[in-house]
Amino acid sequence: MAQAVKELWPDVKLAIGPAIENGFYYDFDKREPFSTEDLEKIEQRMQRIINQDLPLRQSVLPKNEAIALFKELKEDYKLELIENLPDEKISIYKTGDGFVDLCKGPHAESTGQIKAFKLLSLAGAYWHGDENNAMLQRIYGTCFASREELAQHLQNLEETQKRDHRKLGTQLDLFNIYHEAAGAGLVFYHPAGAMLRKNIEDYVRAQHMKRGYDFVMTPNILKGKLWEMSGHAGYYRENMYYFSVDQEEYAVKPMNCPGHMLIYKSKMRSYRDLPIRFFELGTVYRQEKAGVLHGLLRVRGFTQDDAHIFCRQDQLQAEVMGVLDFVFSMMKDFGFTEYEIELSTRPEKFIGTVENWECATEVLQNSMKNKNVSFHINEGDGAFYGPKIDIKLKDALGRSWQCATIQCDFALPERFDLTYVNEQGENQRPIMIHRAILGSVERFIGTLIEHYAGAFPLWLAPVQVMIIPIKDSHQAYAQKVKENLQGQGLRVIIDARNESLNKRIREGTLQKIPYLLVVGDREVSSGQVSVRKRQAGDQGNKTIEDLSSQLQREIALKE
Ligand code: ZN
Repeated sequence: MAQAVKELWPDVKLAIGPAIENGFYYDFDKREPFSTEDLEKIEQRMQRIINQDLPLRQSVLPKNEAIALFKELKEDYKLELIENLPDEKISIYKTGDGFVDLCKGPHAESTGQIKAFKLLSLAGAYWHGDENNAMLQRIYGTCFASREELAQHLQNLEETQKRDHRKLGTQLDLFNIYHEAAGAGLVFYHPAGAMLRKNIEDYVRAQHMKRGYDFVMTPNILKGKLWEMSGHAGYYRENMYYFSVDQEEYAVKPMNCPGHMLIYKSKMRSYRDLPIRFFELGTVYRQEKAGVLHGLLRVRGFTQDDAHIFCRQDQLQAEVMGVLDFVFSMMKDFGFTEYEIELSTRPEKFIGTVENWECATEVLQNSMKNKNVSFHINEGDGAFYGPKIDIKLKDALGRSWQCATIQCDFALPERFDLTYVNEQGENQRPIMIHRAILGSVERFIGTLIEHYAGAFPLWLAPVQVMIIPIKDSHQAYAQKVKENLQGQGLRVIIDARNESLNKRIREGTLQKIPYLLVVGDREVSSGQVSVRKRQAGDQGNKTIEDLSSQLQREIALKE
């Protein structure tokens, strides 16, 4: 691509052009912006270079010769790169007898080996990613060993765009972020989105009840002193929102842990009380740079399904295994069965002793081994207070999404001087586990939207059933059906607008409502409904009793 660009516009200067996941890009310094038509021109030129089957040859030059070469080529960006390289030998590649580029390699042997490629998009990019530097033009492309693989990849890209949760969020009227009016990274749930969230939260609460968690609730703002005690003020201050109340410093909570620790400390705890598991759907606020905010995935205010488990050393492994079990069972209910699991170990900045860190890391590792899950180790990527397990979900398109995290903490109980009375009547430190299963409810909803492409399973769907009376005269019957189903806890609406039946069915389908019930003369006289199930299509006429037992079964199975 760089060769093609240089052949078409000899004055363009080359910056960098790496391979990335699923393709490549190259940054160019060109006065006039590239147009979409230019991309076609470049593709044609690329095809010509491929057809010529030019050999790609590597040579290694002494640094001064490489500098002289790129000076002559007037490639200023390459010169800067070479001058900053520590090596004395510089690797370059040559295509045929013409194009030269700075590159470590390896490369294909000749241009003819490239079988299928496509230029995808244009973007602006600063040199070295620094906004004080020149703005360059980036061209993204991709390339495969066969046309079939390229076609498959392009289809996946299209599917990814269709599933974009920001687009579906608007289309299904789930949520909005009013950047201008209310602030960036702050989410407003519209009625359908709030219902979806309520369904998720009801389920999450019920699951925690079943697994022996105690529910707590803690304030959103807390004294700065408390954040000093927890260590957040030292390690996390730049991500927190501070302000003052009665001349005293306060901060909006970025995490729920200190609140839960105060509750633990509120009375004497005995070894018999442990483990204690405090759960809260806790809303937190964190400062994120405006540039990284992204729909529901990166926000400034979000709610965590957060719990802190206080236990004895001999209970730790069982607790961690219990949490792993909880994660897998909950995610299965949400339709996720594939994971990527990472164990992150001690970072450079940390609280606590090295010995405690090693002990905690081993417990996490053994728990996963006992559960027979495979994982890989992220050296040095732990939180400042302990090692952690991160669980990423694989969605319907095979993409990974961060969700659950399990963090072991020997440090915070020390800082808060948490104790329990052991069998010998002595005070002992409990160990603490921080854990979240969905992680951020906001991000999880974004994940669910993309995983299901907005077509939520019946148990989660904000509206489960829409009734469409064919004519005004069928409205009273539609209302009766609605009340009947509503009485059984189902979420039902009627679309009695003065629009054609087809149009209303089409809109209900676009809204991805699981069941559409059409009622007309025949249904009124037989006391039935005509059922259309999302994806499955026409299911014929059913009695209300048959339909509602079908719905209840589907809800129970979380299909
Ligand atoms: Zn915590």
